[in-house]
Amino acid sequence: MIADGVTRRGILGGGVAVASIALGASPAGALLQAGATRAEGQPIPNGLELPTTTPPPRRLDSVGFAIVGLGNYALRQMMPRFSDAERAHISAIVSGNPEKLARVGDAYGVPEDARYSYETFADIASDDRTDAVYIVLPSGLHADWTNRAFEAGKHVLCEKPMALSSAECESMIAASRRADRKLMIAYRSHFEPHNLEAMELMAQGAVGELRLLRTEQSYRMGPTSPSENWRANRALAGGGPLEDLGIYGLQAALYLTREMPESITATTLQPANDPRFAEIFAQVSSQWRFPSGAVAQLATSYDSAGINMVEARGTTGALIMNPATGYSGQTLTLAGSERREINPGDPRVQFARQLDHLADVIRDDAPIRAPGEMGLRDVRLIEAIYASAAAGQTMRLKPDGTII
Ligand code: NAD
Repeated sequence: MIADGVTRRGILGGGVAVASIALGASPAGALLQAGATRAEGQPIPNGLELPTTTPPPRRLDSVGFAIVGLGNYALRQMMPRFSDAERAHISAIVSGNPEKLARVGDAYGVPEDARYSYETFADIASDDRTDAVYIVLPSGLHADWTNRAFEAGKHVLCEKPMALSSAECESMIAASRRADRKLMIAYRSHFEPHNLEAMELMAQGAVGELRLLRTEQSYRMGPTSPSENWRANRALAGGGPLEDLGIYGLQAALYLTREMPESITATTLQPANDPRFAEIFAQVSSQWRFPSGAVAQLATSYDSAGINMVEARGTTGALIMNPATGYSGQTLTLAGSERREINPGDPRVQFARQLDHLADVIRDDAPIRAPGEMGLRDVRLIEAIYASAAAGQTMRLKPDGTII
């Protein structure tokens, strides 16, 4: 679990992934079987440093967030960034581990009566200090807990992937409408300066007519098994690297082309006798054809040396991001008649800006940059990728991403 966290953080943080080897058994069962596992308390992540200063004073209209799932991403990345947000603060925490609740609650100044267990979570409905619930649980639990948050009358920020099936995504969108509350997917690259600049450059035709787009997101997963690590467990992680890492490349392929693919051809790799891949794929790659004629090649792996890159190649030049979508360290190069490095700002602003954006959506009814419908669209494409790989055939798609 920890080795996985370290290697994964390395690659998403733009660093070098740690290599490791494991061998074991058996092929996968049916894909996208979700909800088989419950939310359960986990140990405090190793070596965690908690804040020692009190949270900054907040605006009167600051949005209170309840954090559900106190794991590596919540504790090491997102929670520390709330102090950079202008209109968002941590109002409650939810965990199945009482010791973690106490230590994290004390460190972040969360009142004792705003520290919930998974069993007492429903009580948050009458807690007016919390406006929004941030779901940072394993992916197979996103749909259930998003729907519980809507039942409690709260807005939701849900981590990626939105869920493990399009049916789950549809249930989340329906729950949001029933509750008349906002649903946003935590696609942080929509708030990251290099990715925003890349979107702008592509919209301006900076590479001419786009022909070829390539995305690669990989690292080598340490020795583990489905019972030890939710990322190796099909019920909690779906097919594996695509939902976890490859989704950044999938997103980039869509926001850089501003097109939906009309067809997808895919392959997967699931080595035998390797406990890491007893239930998930080691590798997923796909080729997409867009109506413009452009082609995208997406590769993602839990079993190859680390990379996180996006490259768009057109008739007059290329746009290269490497690392492309990490927590920090992004680079953006425009290569044409001359080569230009572009540095539009510090990638680390993405975390607080994402929180402030949902606050603006809730307080000012601003349009959501990454709504549930976008998460659903992406999960439909993930389903098309797996369907193509399973059938050994090209899948033709409707403009909404469903298979024809
Ligand atoms: P993690 O394993 O470090 O933490 C998951 C936490 O969920 C646990 O600590 C525990 O508090 C809770 N949990 C409840 N029930 C659980 C169960 N049955 N099994 C395991 N944990 C359970 O994982 P993480 O890396 O923090 O990922 C959590 C979510 O955040 C995932 O959806 C992941 O895709 C997403 N994530 C997003 C980014 C990003 O950059 N946006 C980065 C990392 C993770």
